[in-house]
Order: sequence, then structure tokens, then C-alpha cells
Amino acid sequence: MRIRKGDSVIVVTGDDSAATPRKVLQLLDGGRKLVVEGVNRVYKHVRRGHPKSPQGGRLQLEMPIDASNVLLHCPACSHGTRVGLRYNDEGRKERYCKKCQATLSTVGAVRPAYAKKSE
Ligand SMILES: [Zn+2]
Repeated sequence: MRIRKGDSVIVVTGDDSAATPRKVLQLLDGGRKLVVEGVNRVYKHVRRGHPKSPQGGRLQLEMPIDASNVLLHCPACSHGTRVGLRYNDEGRKERYCKKCQATLSTVGAVRPAYAKKSE
């Protein structure tokens, strides 16, 4: 999967599906599962002495969802889109929006072998 921590995603299936972009908080299982802000919330009952709830009671927590249920949100065309990978002119891998071709972010180091040759 090409979703990373901190990305904005659109949840496309399930009770919490909506057209509004939400933030990815955590990647699990090598990126196949995601914890997304405000999505798949459950109440977890905790005893007294829990660091987040010293009184005990109920905590609202996000549970992981499958990465196939989200689309990356593209800020250029403001759609949920699929993500492609390509090398840019300087030889750096970048993620791009398959709808509008806009570059979303770069990945990894510059690899001169993939740089565009200027003749
Ligand atoms: Zn786009």
C-alpha cells in the first residue's frame, strides 16, 4: 500500500465512510491496516489507574481498518484517488495522483540512474 502515516484519506466503505478527508494516525501490519482519526471508534472500558483515565470508565479509541477501505485524498483535485509511483526528473521516486497526475510527495533518496538525461 502507498498510504503513509500522516496522510489524508477518504474512507469509502463502512459506517464511518464520508467524503471528508481524515488523518492516518498509525500504520499496522506493514501498512495493510490503518488507524484513522475518528473512524471505527469503540468504547473501551478501563479500570481505575489507567494512565489515560485515572478514574476508570470508558475511553473512546479508534480501531484499525483495512487499508483497502480508504483512498488517498489528493489536495490538487480534492478527490479520493489511487496512488501511482514514478521517478521524477531528478531521479527521486514520487507518489502521484492517478486522476490529475499531481505529485503528492517524494519517497526515498535521489537515484541518479533514474534521472532524466539532458542531451
Ligand atoms: Zn488529484
